[in-house]
Amino acid sequence: MIVERDVVVVGGGPAGLTAAARLAAAGLTVTILDEQPELGGQYYRRPAPEVARRWGDHRREGGELIAGVRAAGVECRTGHLVWGLADDDRTLLAEDEAGRPVRLRGRHLVLATGAYERSFPFPGWQLPGVTTPGFAQHLAAGDHTPIGERVVLAGSGPFLLPVACSLLALGVKVAGIAEAGTPYRPGRRALGTLRHPARLRELAGYAARLARARVPVWQGAVVLRADGHDRVSSVTLAAAGRPGQAIRTVEADALCVGYGFRPQTDLARLLGCEVTADPGTGDAIPVTDPAGRSSRPDVYVIGEAAGIGGAPTARARGLAAAHDILARETGHPVPPAEARRVATAARRLGHFTALTDALYPSPAQLLDALVPALADSTMACRCESVTAGELRADAAGDVNAAKARTRAGMGPCQGRVCGFAVAGLVRGGAVFPSRVPIRPVRMTTLLELAAEDGPA
Ligand SMILES: Cc1cc2nc3c(=O)[nH]c(=O)nc-3n(C[C@H](O)[C@H](O)[C@H](O)COP(=O)(O)OP(=O)(O)OC[C@H]3O[C@@H](n4cnc5c(N)ncnc54)[C@H](O)[C@@H]3O)c2cc1C
Repeated sequence: MIVERDVVVVGGGPAGLTAAARLAAAGLTVTILDEQPELGGQYYRRPAPEVARRWGDHRREGGELIAGVRAAGVECRTGHLVWGLADDDRTLLAEDEAGRPVRLRGRHLVLATGAYERSFPFPGWQLPGVTTPGFAQHLAAGDHTPIGERVVLAGSGPFLLPVACSLLALGVKVAGIAEAGTPYRPGRRALGTLRHPARLRELAGYAARLARARVPVWQGAVVLRADGHDRVSSVTLAAAGRPGQAIRTVEADALCVGYGFRPQTDLARLLGCEVTADPGTGDAIPVTDPAGRSSRPDVYVIGEAAGIGGAPTARARGLAAAHDILARETGHPVPPAEARRVATAARRLGHFTALTDALYPSPAQLLDALVPALADSTMACRCESVTAGELRADAAGDVNAAKARTRAGMGPCQGRVCGFAVAGLVRGGAVFPSRVPIRPVRMTTLLELAAEDGPA
């Protein structure tokens, strides 16, 4: 059986929820799918019930948005992973939490699949206690659980600051933040933030909190290696420009390293949506118009899946797509004043994103700093146990060829963890191609799907 709807939304984060609520409120039949057990995505991730009872909801507006989605009559299918596409190129293949196959088709398909963290390997990155900042943030903000007692944060980007503050709020000792770039040195580029007082206030709040706790911020520093026996116990840093030379070793029982976020475009690419290189980051992003309409007229790509911009931008993109779909369905464009308000907000948010991108090193600059220092013996692809040396030896300038020859990127993560490093090591294209299944899927789901289709 195929579930047919006016609109199918994949991804229940700020973008997908905003689009779904607006569309269902206007009377369209909408289904939203998310692989997670609860709606909310990354930014509005719901705290566990016992955490919410004790400490309250850390993002109340998320709870209100989800309640609005349900009240508008959106069919919410949580625990549903979309893993493929049927031969008609339109029907999404998903599995529910019990492993049963589900097929869905929408006259409009809205992809709001979010982002994932940009990782880069280093000796010791497989030690227990080494994670990404996003994971530490989920544990801290969502579950009130500290990732460790003495934590080093490293990588690049503004996200390291709120993560450090969330850890401090739990009483964790933040031993320091190693930022690969030098974004916090006064300069002309930083002056642009004056045009965004709310964001500046947010940044000042983090800076004040870190200063009060005397958290050192080492700018121009990258992780050289993590050491420890059965868990990380120390982190050695190097200067970003001279990555081979240690500048400091810091004791820590947890290390969280991330270089910002990458758009999650696997489903968009599987659907054949055209992609291009993001001018700021070089990452592959779907080509869309301002409403999120992709090169396929029935497919919209919104939120971080369309380019990194933060939760407010994700919501603005969700609204713009909903307005466009409503105009197409009803023949009545949204009132010009409302359309102008959404467009102005989106432009302003886009300006802030461009400003932030310019303050921190671009992914290409990060690769220039990180790749030469990566020892050949370091495991680059953890799923398939492929070392940096094997990939270097295979530097054919093509991630796809490297994947075929070494198996890097063929494992369960499908290149989400290793892809950035593999591209740097083989000096080739930015992302692995998207293939069915885009995520690991149970064999029983496939068998049940085949049984439904009968012998043919
Ligand atoms: C690990 C992590 C932690 C983050 N934490 C913060 C934070 O604390 N503060 C902050 O300002 N920003 C944070 N961000 C950035 C954040 O992504 C946003 O700015 C915001 O949540 C983007 O909204 P979105 O709706 O575009 O995507 P998301 O909120 O990421 O939502 C996307 C949703 O799509 C679902 N999905 C993706 N693919 C599939 C599929 N194939 N099948 C079914 N469901 C699918 C995911 O489960 C997810 O719920 C974080 C990002 C990551 C990756």
